[in-house]
Amino acid sequence: MMRDNIFQKIIDRQLPAQIVYEDDHCLALRDINPQAPVHVLVIPKAKVIPTHADITESDKELLGHLHLTAAKVARQLGIDDGYRIVINCRERAGQTVPHLHFHLLGGRDMRWPPG
Ligand code: AMP
Repeated sequence: MMRDNIFQKIIDRQLPAQIVYEDDHCLALRDINPQAPVHVLVIPKAKVIPTHADITESDKELLGHLHLTAAKVARQLGIDDGYRIVINCRERAGQTVPHLHFHLLGGRDMRWPPG
């Protein structure tokens, strides 16, 4: 389902990317248009979940793994003094790629509310 999105092409090595972490279940790559000194996307590999609103009970383990991976990559890239994880769900929230992904942002001070 929706296997022709840009992240699937990166997973399949049909498009180049700056990959900072990979295992059997997910991949982390530098965002091409970074919004912070460190801006990494953590994406699932084995299954395409189009949006956060499409997650089901069967995705629980994968979602936990994505969180553990985000924390691991934050440590690896030295931003575990403070980082933000963002999931844009559907167009109204700014989602442009229909393949669930976490934005991991850090390396600068961040304000709340984000605007
Ligand atoms: P979203 O708007 O939440 O769907 O996030 C999609 C993100 O993917 C954006 O931050 C884009 O800058 C990023 N992006 C799009 N194409 C690429 C690419 N080829 N390599 C890395 N990041 C990309």
